[in-house]
Amino acid sequence: MRLSRYFLPVLRETPAEAQIASHQLMLRAGMLRQEAAGIYAWLPLGLRVLKKIEHIVREEMDRAGAIELLMPTLQLADLWRESGRYDAYGAEMLRISDRHQRELLFGPTNEEMITEIFRAYVHSYKELPKNLYHIQWKFRDELRPRFGVMRGREFLMKDAYSFDLDEEAGRASYNRMFVAYLRAFSRMGLKAIPMQAESGPIGGELSHEFIVLASTGESAVYLDRRLLDFEVPHARIEYGGDLGEAVRNWTGLYAATEDVHDPERYERLTAPADRLTARGIEVGQTFFFGDKYSVPMKATVTGADGAERPVQMGSYGIGISRLVGAIIEASHDDEGIIWPEPVAPFGVGIINLRPGEEAVDGACENAYDALDRAGFEPLLDDTEGRPGGKFATMDLIGLPWQLIIGPRGLADGVVELKRRAGGLRETLSLEAALERLTRGKY
Ligand code: ATP
Ligand code: MG
Repeated sequence: MRLSRYFLPVLRETPAEAQIASHQLMLRAGMLRQEAAGIYAWLPLGLRVLKKIEHIVREEMDRAGAIELLMPTLQLADLWRESGRYDAYGAEMLRISDRHQRELLFGPTNEEMITEIFRAYVHSYKELPKNLYHIQWKFRDELRPRFGVMRGREFLMKDAYSFDLDEEAGRASYNRMFVAYLRAFSRMGLKAIPMQAESGPIGGELSHEFIVLASTGESAVYLDRRLLDFEVPHARIEYGGDLGEAVRNWTGLYAATEDVHDPERYERLTAPADRLTARGIEVGQTFFFGDKYSVPMKATVTGADGAERPVQMGSYGIGISRLVGAIIEASHDDEGIIWPEPVAPFGVGIINLRPGEEAVDGACENAYDALDRAGFEPLLDDTEGRPGGKFATMDLIGLPWQLIIGPRGLADGVVELKRRAGGLRETLSLEAALERLTRGKY
């Protein structure tokens, strides 16, 4: 992408309405625009990151055996009357009526709809287990939308739903999602710690919130700090096998959100030096709630013995749009964002210090072509403007690498390569710089 043709409305000033770093930086970096309280337009740079996150989540869901579909944003109120949640959900639900006065709602979550789909088609244990997911916009009329995408009213969620014949199989499905979550967050450069959690309006007994520690997080959490050094399961983990051990490993040490925190247990299980009280951002939550929806909604399956029973369900959410903010909270400095490579909107920024000068333009074009071919997704700053402004913009938008090409360097046969994280700079020939980037030799 060439910056001269792109749409990157960066702001030099920090907008007064934004209180936390991620919100400020998303506005300044031209990623996001507020259209109403808690409702945002995703500008091109922001959308690229959102898509990268979505892609990682999709890959890990698919790897774990979940199957993607797409449900609508609008749902019939009558569907929610079947489960009894239409009245119980309260003011957070956006209720709408159409021209025939049919009552609709903008979905805050999809347990009812997926149960309705499941019961229409699946009747036998032979078709189980099944895990269906989608990535779709949700609406919750939050009392206090704030912190930008962290607590929006409209937000993008990945939500998966598992269906099993009995509780044991249901727990195995839960474990597959648990492992997939560990992997997905880690691939985004995040340490998300699974913590015992309250299940809230979704219901059920077994639930974990996946929490990224950050001083601006909304939840207070208590954990054994050794969890921060745990390794996540490898991509080749056998999802068909027993994942109980991997899950027990991660849940063996104390970690709980304030709603379920038990000080006595915490102190018994965790040595004083290992205790960590912190704040955190909830980036995902897993629930196993058995027959909470399948009983009232009559979603039953016939077992091998011929008897019909309510299907055992779990649901699993990831806040895709919140993650954009969470990653920035975890990775930024005074100059701007520092994207972990797998979610960076572009892999490298090429800065042309003298557009219009033939040798510099030529070197930039060569670099652009080579990096584009190597799948680096370069962003070439080919705009007129002072070097200081160009450096500031590149630091602000936080691409992992900067390749700085100017007339003085070229006269000596060199360019500059800068790593955004840590700020290390190197002066070397263009060939050596390209070689280093494309061969991963850094
Ligand atoms: P919270 O406690 O933060 O209100 P929740 O527990 O109500 O969230 P879930 O029903 O567990 O949310 O939704 C799954 C995921 O969706 C959450 O883990 C979170 O990452 C994301 N999410 C929930 N509400 C919002 C919101 N208002 N804005 C952005 N992301 C959200
Ligand atoms: Mg939650």
